[in-house]
Amino acid sequence: MSRYIAQAAIRGANMIVNEADAMLKAAIKEFGPDTPVAFTNTAYYLPVTLGFTGREVKTLGELEPVLDYARGLLHPVPGDSVWLPYLGETLDCGSATLLATEAIEAIRFVRGQQPERIPGLQLTGTSFTSPDGGDDGEGGGYANGPIDDIQLRAWGIQLVDGRMPGFAAIVGAARSNEAAVSIVRELQKRNILVFLSGNVNGRSIIHQLQEEGVEMGYDTYIVPFGTDTISAIYALGFATRSALTFGGMSGGQTRDILLYNKYRVFAFVLALGEVDDLKYAAAAGALNYGFPTIADTVIPQILPTGITQYEHVISMPFDDIEGENDTEKARRLVQRAVEVRGVKIKVTDVPIPVPYGSAFEGERVRRADMRVEFGGRDARAFEYLRMADFDAIEDGKITVVGPSFDDVPMGGAMNLGIVVDVAGRKMQEDFEPVLERQLHYFVNGASGIQHIGQRDITWLRFSKGAVDKGFQLKHLGDILYARFHADFGSIVDKVQVTLYTDPEQFEKWLGLARDAYQARNIRLAGMTDESVDEFYSCTLCQSFAPNHVCVVSPERLGLCGAYNWLDCKASHQINPTGPNQPIVKGICIDPAFGVWQGTNQFVYQNSHQSVERVSMYSIMQDPMTACGCFECIAIVVPEANGIMVVSREDPSMTPAGMTFSTLAGVAGGGLQTPGMMGVGKYYLLSRKFISADGGFKRIVWMSSNLKESMAAELQAVCEREGDPDLLDKIADERVATTVDELLVYLEEHGHPALTMDPIF
Ligand code: SF4
Ligand code: ZN
Repeated sequence: MSRYIAQAAIRGANMIVNEADAMLKAAIKEFGPDTPVAFTNTAYYLPVTLGFTGREVKTLGELEPVLDYARGLLHPVPGDSVWLPYLGETLDCGSATLLATEAIEAIRFVRGQQPERIPGLQLTGTSFTSPDGGDDGEGGGYANGPIDDIQLRAWGIQLVDGRMPGFAAIVGAARSNEAAVSIVRELQKRNILVFLSGNVNGRSIIHQLQEEGVEMGYDTYIVPFGTDTISAIYALGFATRSALTFGGMSGGQTRDILLYNKYRVFAFVLALGEVDDLKYAAAAGALNYGFPTIADTVIPQILPTGITQYEHVISMPFDDIEGENDTEKARRLVQRAVEVRGVKIKVTDVPIPVPYGSAFEGERVRRADMRVEFGGRDARAFEYLRMADFDAIEDGKITVVGPSFDDVPMGGAMNLGIVVDVAGRKMQEDFEPVLERQLHYFVNGASGIQHIGQRDITWLRFSKGAVDKGFQLKHLGDILYARFHADFGSIVDKVQVTLYTDPEQFEKWLGLARDAYQARNIRLAGMTDESVDEFYSCTLCQSFAPNHVCVVSPERLGLCGAYNWLDCKASHQINPTGPNQPIVKGICIDPAFGVWQGTNQFVYQNSHQSVERVSMYSIMQDPMTACGCFECIAIVVPEANGIMVVSREDPSMTPAGMTFSTLAGVAGGGLQTPGMMGVGKYYLLSRKFISADGGFKRIVWMSSNLKESMAAELQAVCEREGDPDLLDKIADERVATTVDELLVYLEEHGHPALTMDPIF
């Protein structure tokens, strides 16, 4: 144990606890002890405080005992002659630092100083509104601040199944802008979330990335918390909430929460530039979670003793790293950091001239940065994947039929058809749409390439930057070839890609593709729960909701919206012992409620004997369990004799007196809750949507974003139900946020639920 680090961390902790104390006293004096304190969009109060102490802090006054507790964890700074064999005191001081910094951010929220103002900063994918309700005139101007629960859950499945290994909390500023960009690119390639905070002499990595035009925000997995060290607390708030949300723990289970993070969350701190006392103290706080710190300066190291799986604090002076330039050195730095934390990360090597990884999926290409687009307003594009005879195609063959885009003016458009032929002994025609849908993710993984839509409304953009680096049409083929083999190797043995720009060939293949889409539509529409003998299970979410089982049928998809029956079927082929198992329906016990002997048995066995019976078509009687990552929550509104459907994307108040995130806390956890159910949004369109309870006509309230994003599909359902005006009769948050307002609206619009049989 390095005495120097202990001294610095303990000094830093004492300093910050004193500062928090002073700030709290001043704030209480100014605003009063009952002034509410809260982080935005979270049901976990001040999450680190909740995790460490079990306290649900809601007011300034309630911060006092928290800081008292923090003070109790402090130790005096050890003298130079004191031998410190253990980390204990340093870790305690680290915990105190976390509580104090979280208190400081909470007080800053009260003062309207959070999230921090950073002129010109634009974030992608955030629903954040600035404290003053406006922006800086450029559509941005603020750091992200804490991550909201919606986003945490949205990343949930990926975090749980390992596609997203965890996060890197970067504190400080990189040696150069070049190094800063290289560091985040390396992390993005590995799908590691990047959290940014801190500065060195006023300069932060956030500024560096801003200057280099790197897109930050939820969509690109790069989240700027703020330019001081204190904002790094949001990273540990995220870690704590991961344990609470996905580990099923509750506040105050400190040890469990910390162990969950140590073993389940891959994370580390990257300290860039000079490390001061506060940074040492914060690093000690992170050590409690098993997160090591890697610094790019000369600092004393702490080598293994068992708290982290590997080294605790590693010094990797930037100047000593081998490499021709900063980009190369930064790449090695990240490599070392990943090794220290000790998780093997699978990176598919995609041989294209631009960086590649899922972190680039959310990246957009603005018109001004665009070299060429395919589809969109001025051109058409389609993609079509089909199963081919094994001997009819040549694996790895990539052909461009027609001219490239060289002659298309800067920012112009052209037609493009992407035809992917796949063959494999285990391939089935049924898997065509499942695999075709992957094109979106695969293509989007290339930095500087944007993919939107599917089928014949595909829309691609190549940025100038990507084309300057040498990205050409044929590289789309390289991506698809590499990814299909890597991700679907167990059903796909051969992949051949043809890209059509030749006008005649384009039209011909567009016609063939449309015939195929049409045939698929008919086939999918004809696929009912009655037409198959097997449903599929999904138990992917058992890693955080241990008794949860999704039963996925042709007419009811998984509640996260990510897996329909065909997906599960394909996934079972790919991974026969995985989370998607066939469930033979067996004897039908109740056709109206959707109860079979086989489904009951399966759910009983796989819920650790906690769920005995599941009705596939009812919210009232034995509804399906809910894990936590449902797209929507359906919940009975007894006064209205109907149900409401709240979307995850809807932050507003609902007639149930709760927002989505509060409702989610009640509904999740893998429990069966009559009257309440998590659903995938496409289930709303199904004929089997709570058909035992009266079906779609029971919906009296629905988040407006659902109404808008699925307008045409919902209209078709209303017509199917024989009530073409039904959608207008359904209230939303714009007209009703209380039961009284809801009832008035339903009366005025003559909603059918009011005269239906009692739902109870
Ligand atoms: Fe989780 Fe169900 Fe989605 Fe599977 S289908 S990932 S169990 S919510
Ligand atoms: Zn889930």
